[in-house]
Amino acid sequence: NNVHVTVLGLGAMGTALAAAVIGAEHPTTVWNRSPGKADGLVAQGATAAATARDAILNSQVVIACLLDDASVHEVLDPLTDELAGRVLINVTTTTPAQARESAAWAERAGIAYLDGGIMAVPHMIGRPESSILYSGSAEVFHEYKPLLDLWGTSTYFGEDAGLASLYDLALLSGMYVMFAGFLHGAAMVAPAGITATEFAAAAAPWLTAMTGGFHGFAEVVDGGDYTVAGQQSLEFSDLTDIVTASADQGISTEVIDVVQRLIQRQIDAGHGKEGFARIFESIRHPA
Ligand code: NDP
Repeated sequence: NNVHVTVLGLGAMGTALAAAVIGAEHPTTVWNRSPGKADGLVAQGATAAATARDAILNSQVVIACLLDDASVHEVLDPLTDELAGRVLINVTTTTPAQARESAAWAERAGIAYLDGGIMAVPHMIGRPESSILYSGSAEVFHEYKPLLDLWGTSTYFGEDAGLASLYDLALLSGMYVMFAGFLHGAAMVAPAGITATEFAAAAAPWLTAMTGGFHGFAEVVDGGDYTVAGQQSLEFSDLTDIVTASADQGISTEVIDVVQRLIQRQIDAGHGKEGFARIFESIRHPA
């Protein structure tokens, strides 16, 4: 349990990750490019290193929580020899391709590599609702799972280092489109004098209840048969009324137009009687 841990990058997230590690009594070394950010963690028991090199040499396990892929390479590429034989857990947000490239770089250098995607904001770190996704070295994931579990619920997706990032970005795409849908609704009711706060009171339970539909859609998509009985058809899902009502309110129809186009493409291809889940095919196979 007393494995030495180094955290590189003391932004909002790196600080939260380091605090959880210190709290579990791991000897912890921290480093940040600009000085001053380590002070609070030193007060909690961490050792501040003057350089990233010194920080790496202090620990078997190195956590990188920097801004982006470029900053990770800027800091770590010159320290390949120091990292060799150690464990690198990179929780910096990157694309799947960047994660795979980092894994390949680590493999060539003899660094055991695990990539992570953090599905949480800093104040959630350490709570079970904080979810962190991992891919890359299975050995690292299993050996250091007690350490990873200090940050929240840890899930492993496989040896392909790009999978955690792919999953992370896919989940974020769902979040952003849902947020845009909520804000579209708020804009629709605003001209009627309804505040966004009032609208949120109705939207939150509604959208929460609607997530119950994911599993049904998923079964249809995975089964590959969009004619299965009991589904809401694409024709029934025509969004003209929503588009018209939005335009009547004098607001942009851009958010809803996107969904309407995905539906229309399937109707035009002769699938109007099939289920709404079929817009998966519009997305999967771009026009
Ligand atoms: P911050 O903006 O708070 O911190 C960025 C950190 O990166 C700082 O420590 C900064 O150092 C460092 N940094 C930036 N560029 C360089 C560089 N070229 N060389 C060395 N260090 C550099 O970001 P967060 O802590 O919030 O985020 C860190 C990572 O965690 C990101 O990849 C982010 O996407 C991810 N994440 C964050 C979440 C959040 O809610 N905050 C949620 C999920 C993921 P300096 O102090 O010197 O500028």
